Amino acid sequence: MSAPTNGWPYATVLVDGEITVDEDGENQTCECGNDSQTENWCHATSDGRLSWMTDGSSDPSEFAVCPVCGRVYPNAALFAAQGNTAAAIARYDTLDPAFIKDLTQYNHDAYGDPL
Ligand SMILES: [Zn+2]
Repeated sequence: MSAPTNGWPYATVLVDGEITVDEDGENQTCECGNDSQTENWCHATSDGRLSWMTDGSSDPSEFAVCPVCGRVYPNAALFAAQGNTAAAIARYDTLDPAFIKDLTQYNHDAYGDPL
């Protein structure tokens, strides 16, 4: 449960806050209020890049990213946090053009949004 070896792929801002995972692990609520039922979560690879996966990820070395506030949570921490909370380990700057570009591509791949 650590940052990618080569650093985060997007600009980051000071990180705080945590995620709350419900008892059955189905819903996860970000510090900012986003949860699995509202804006949902973005999957990121083990190098921290946003990457759409049809079936989601069960790889503990990968990450869940909140598309609303940019907070990054390690999958390993989420799996361990059922009925509990886990701290964000990074927070992407949601105004970083590289982040916006990859998020746009992600939403296109995931939901068919226009590029
Ligand atoms: Zn959030």
